[in-house]
Amino acid sequence: QAKAEGKARFRVFDAALAERVEARRSLETELRCAVRAGEFELHYQPLVDAHSGEVTAAEALIRWRHPRRGLVSPADFIPLAEETGLIMPLGAWVLHTACSEAMRWPAAIKVAVNLSPVQFRDDRLPETIEDILRATGLPAHRLELEITEGVMLDDEERTLMMLSRLKSAGVGLSMDDFGTGYSSLSYLRRFPFDKIKVDRSFVRQLPADPESAAIVRAIITMGSCLGMATTVEGVETAEQYAFVASEQCSQVQGYHVSRPLPSPDFLAFLTDQKAAA
Ligand code: C2E
Ligand code: MG
Ligand code: MG
Ligand code: MG
Repeated sequence: QAKAEGKARFRVFDAALAERVEARRSLETELRCAVRAGEFELHYQPLVDAHSGEVTAAEALIRWRHPRRGLVSPADFIPLAEETGLIMPLGAWVLHTACSEAMRWPAAIKVAVNLSPVQFRDDRLPETIEDILRATGLPAHRLELEITEGVMLDDEERTLMMLSRLKSAGVGLSMDDFGTGYSSLSYLRRFPFDKIKVDRSFVRQLPADPESAAIVRAIITMGSCLGMATTVEGVETAEQYAFVASEQCSQVQGYHVSRPLPSPDFLAFLTDQKAAA
């Protein structure tokens, strides 16, 4: 009896697992085709100077324009792209597209691009980036690379060498999602970052929650003592904006300023802001 029940349960589990494996396989096939067919686009979210409110940069955020599913967010396909290696062509496409679109913006603001730890395992990454800068004509100082702790976890010596090469090429280096990892503090000392991006999990309960307020304040102070700029991510309300600006962070990013915008809308945003100034 027990044995039969166990077998039945195992079959149910088996079927569920098989379904998941199948779903993954079909997503992988679709993703592979999508890379070939170019079904991706970049949206841009403005980063504003905390004091003047001026747009000083924009973060490029990838979306998959899926023929049936509509707009798919990166959380739903970047992990698979990383597992399958498709992140390599996709990541190169993102860099190239972000740099060439930034060349057409009406203001010489910076463009920030997210890099996957998988892209870092390729020794030629610095050359790839220099080639893209040369091909698109974007000055190196207008490109910022956003890197998460996942990169630092790999091989510290190699990572340090790669980051140093990128830095001497003249691009900016930002530590993304700061505070969510295990050893963010020691990484700040060891690696040549220009900027810290405070993770939005610390912003959610601002300004009411005293612990969140203390953490954000401490990160901003630490950044300024280390000579690093700080961007606070995920600022959704006027109260949050006022709080982080009064704490002297360098830049603010979040829905309160703007959601990530498709390229034409982002251009309109820049033009409106210019007209207002
Ligand atoms: P991230 O680099 O930390 O990007 C910020 C994310 O927070 C974006 O989500 C953005 O839309 C969202 N966000 C911005 N302001 C607010 C706000 O005020 N409230 C809330 N709730 N969310 C806000 P998105 O576009 O879904 O991207 C998620 C993550 O996917 C990114 O996190 C980044 O790690 C990754 N990603 C996006 N584009 C790329 C890419 O081209 N390459 C790689 N490797 N990763 C990417
Ligand atoms: Mg980012
Ligand atoms: Mg982030
Ligand atoms: Mg993130």
